[in-house]
Amino acid sequence: MSAENNTFLKNKNLIDGQWVDADGGETINVNNPATGEIIGTIPKSGKAETARAIEAAQKAFETFRKTSALERSKMLRKLHDVIMENQEALARLLTMEQGKSIVEARGEVGMSAGYVLWYAEEARRMYGDVVPSPWADRRIMVTKQPVGVIAAITPWNFPSSMLARKIGPAIAAGCTAVAKPATQTPYSGIAWGILCEMAGIPAGVVNILTGSASEIGGEITRNPHVKKVTFTGSTEIGKLLLKQCAGTVKKVSMELGGNAPFLVFNDADIDRAVEGAIAAKYRNSGQTCVCTNRFLVQSKVYKEFVEKFSAAASALKVGNGLEDGVQQGPLIDMNAVESVEAMIEDATKKGGKIVAGGKRHKLGGSFFEPTVIADAKPRMRFAKEEIFGPISPIFKFKDEEEGIAMANNTVFGLAAYFYTSDLGRMFRVSEALEYGLVGVNEGVITTVEAPFGGFKESGLGREGGHQGIEDYLESKYVCVGGLGL
Ligand code: NAP
Repeated sequence: MSAENNTFLKNKNLIDGQWVDADGGETINVNNPATGEIIGTIPKSGKAETARAIEAAQKAFETFRKTSALERSKMLRKLHDVIMENQEALARLLTMEQGKSIVEARGEVGMSAGYVLWYAEEARRMYGDVVPSPWADRRIMVTKQPVGVIAAITPWNFPSSMLARKIGPAIAAGCTAVAKPATQTPYSGIAWGILCEMAGIPAGVVNILTGSASEIGGEITRNPHVKKVTFTGSTEIGKLLLKQCAGTVKKVSMELGGNAPFLVFNDADIDRAVEGAIAAKYRNSGQTCVCTNRFLVQSKVYKEFVEKFSAAASALKVGNGLEDGVQQGPLIDMNAVESVEAMIEDATKKGGKIVAGGKRHKLGGSFFEPTVIADAKPRMRFAKEEIFGPISPIFKFKDEEEGIAMANNTVFGLAAYFYTSDLGRMFRVSEALEYGLVGVNEGVITTVEAPFGGFKESGLGREGGHQGIEDYLESKYVCVGGLGL
């Protein structure tokens, strides 16, 4: 299936149920990172289009807020079904614009549907409380109400599922939404508009804009009708949006960057750890917020882990994600390649030893070899910075105390992994790690049923699980008095 005949490749924005161009007709080209081909041109919308989308969402909210939880649950079930009926087309579009392997893309689309189904179920469980009253003649009730219009800004690395985590709970709660997907991967975002239409979700409930990030973000954060901003992306832009939201005291959810440690203790099953390590690192070519940034390996098993892991990394098949058997696609663009090269150069200058990969892949473009660097040291850049590419630095630690201290020595706190066969250590280490998600003897742990989110500068709030709807709801305390009791 080519880009041209994919039903979901739509070069328009969705405002108030209408598919529209940018006011000035300006566009932005979108390319396929595996081939460099332009797959389409999207509208370059700005402040005025954003203001209209917010107005449409506000208007739609007045009726949508009155729908019953059961009605919204049914809409989400239908949305889940249309996603799954179109899983293959959506996955191919995702691979074409983002580069990840088709197997991963199918998985991501399946996960998007999974979030929607989960929130179809959670919609019916937004329970309030009836609290014992301190007054004989009054009763206390706490109810949940939708916050109103929400705005969602998402990154290029999971262009489908990052919106699922926001649109799903928003609709479940009775909110309406304005969404801005990343410019490099807009089609999986725009596809949500088509899917919502197919599912019969009313016009104006979900609006989608592409274009100038600063203009759209500026209007979203300034406009008093927007009651909540939910952002997934870099910590740098997250901090900027937090400041911008202060002016109108909006609710905020922030899913930001990570620097995930992956600890391997002397008592670990090394083969299982290597398998988990490959999945935790090279998924999406190392471009995920929960990808391992630092491997920390205890002294006795260091050599064995380095040998087995570098052999497994070297065996990964690199290529166009649409081809069968490919495990690692291209990086998103040449800036990403240059950033990865700069990190490798920094590490080798400071004594790091390349034991696998280390350079651009012979396929050219933004393809890069899965890379492993042994003898990693705390003074190297990747000890502190997010890599966002296929480099695995391997550090050494001597005992549990040092391993935990190294793992926690970062401003980030999103995901951490560790491998051990000692039951006591499983509890001690998982409790000591300052991270929102911890995988014990598992390298891939994200699931719709569990809360996802970070400690420290990795973010605010949680997505997924029953926690993921809370930020879309206001609690209201109602005191009913004069009962004549
Ligand atoms: P990014 O540069 O922060 O961009 C994310 C989104 O913000 C894009 O839609 C981008 O638009 C938009 N944006 C950029 N500048 C903006 C501004 N001034 N105002 C409003 N919006 C603005 O991040 P990225 O490079 O796409 O994604 C990678 C980052 O996301 C990594 O740090 C990764 O760890 C993080 N991430 C976190 C999670 C999590 O759940 N914690 C999940 C996935 C990714 P344009 O595309 O138009 O520039």
